[in-house]
Amino acid sequence: MRALFETRPVNDAFGDPGLYVDFRDERRALLLDLGDIAVLPPRKLMRLSHVFVTHAHMDHFSGFDHLLRVVLGRKACVALFGGPGFIAQVEHKLRAYTWNVVHRYEVELVIDVHEIGVDGRGQRARFSSRARFEREPCAAVDPVGDVVHEEMTFRVRGRFVDHDVPCLAYAVEEKARMKVGKDRLEALGVATGAWLRELKEAVRTGAPDATPIEVRWRDRNGEHAMTRNLSELRHLVLDVVPGQRIGYVTDLRYTEANARTLAELLAGVDLLYIESVFLDEDREHALRKNHLTARQAGEIARRVGAKAVVPFHFSPRYEGRSAALIAEVQAAWSGSLAPRSGCAQ
Ligand SMILES: [Zn+2]
Ligand SMILES: [Zn+2]
Repeated sequence: MRALFETRPVNDAFGDPGLYVDFRDERRALLLDLGDIAVLPPRKLMRLSHVFVTHAHMDHFSGFDHLLRVVLGRKACVALFGGPGFIAQVEHKLRAYTWNVVHRYEVELVIDVHEIGVDGRGQRARFSSRARFEREPCAAVDPVGDVVHEEMTFRVRGRFVDHDVPCLAYAVEEKARMKVGKDRLEALGVATGAWLRELKEAVRTGAPDATPIEVRWRDRNGEHAMTRNLSELRHLVLDVVPGQRIGYVTDLRYTEANARTLAELLAGVDLLYIESVFLDEDREHALRKNHLTARQAGEIARRVGAKAVVPFHFSPRYEGRSAALIAEVQAAWSGSLAPRSGCAQ
């Protein structure tokens, strides 16, 4: 069965961090981080519905202008998520331009900004081209637990790690998928039909077991119908497949508190994208810069129980030596490099 989304780093590992999450069947996408996005063609930027920013260092947020330039006058809405101070940061970027004509553009652009506080509280504001991007307050939506965005088929969770400044680590999670057991349908003598959609919807929304589902189908002998309850049908024809889970972790110190936060957010992820900025021989430097070494990234990936790991955000000082960074991450993740005891506290 095809996954709901595909992920791909925006740039190579020495470029600005960013992850493009493509929902191919829906012609829409999410973006994690908003640094240099010049390699993304306009058609890919037009697909973005939600952008999740880890923190507002330039390599993670300077692409805001590029995105705005491409979507302005063409796209109706984009939602942005970020940490403390994020609404003001978006507002300051918007204030830097002159907006005397955009209110007349045929397509109104609304930038819907969600700010997540370190206390877990949410704030929200909207900026519309019709109102010359003046800030308009909206009712706050507090995230439920660490879920910062949720839809029918997936959710995005975020937790703060320490990078000297608060920085959001994200998990993008496909919800459990329901697969129809075609062979069992046949054994039951029933054909597919609109009733399957009704059944899946009832399971997804947590309807009671006794809910009656009318099974209607048509075959060469004509129309058929029978009624069965939800629990019976679910067990007869549906398999629940766990959804794909992706972790995106960049810009943090190697501390016990950070490692613990990530273990909670990302336990058992299928794929972990994690910064690996320096080689471990330069770990003193990494500590001063509030970044991970490749070995530390691999140790976190191991502790989290990530099934696969992709390192990125390499320091330019290792240009031409990416193989060494990758090897170090892999060795620590697979356990062939014994974990060094203790992080900085
Ligand atoms: Zn960075
Ligand atoms: Zn940073």
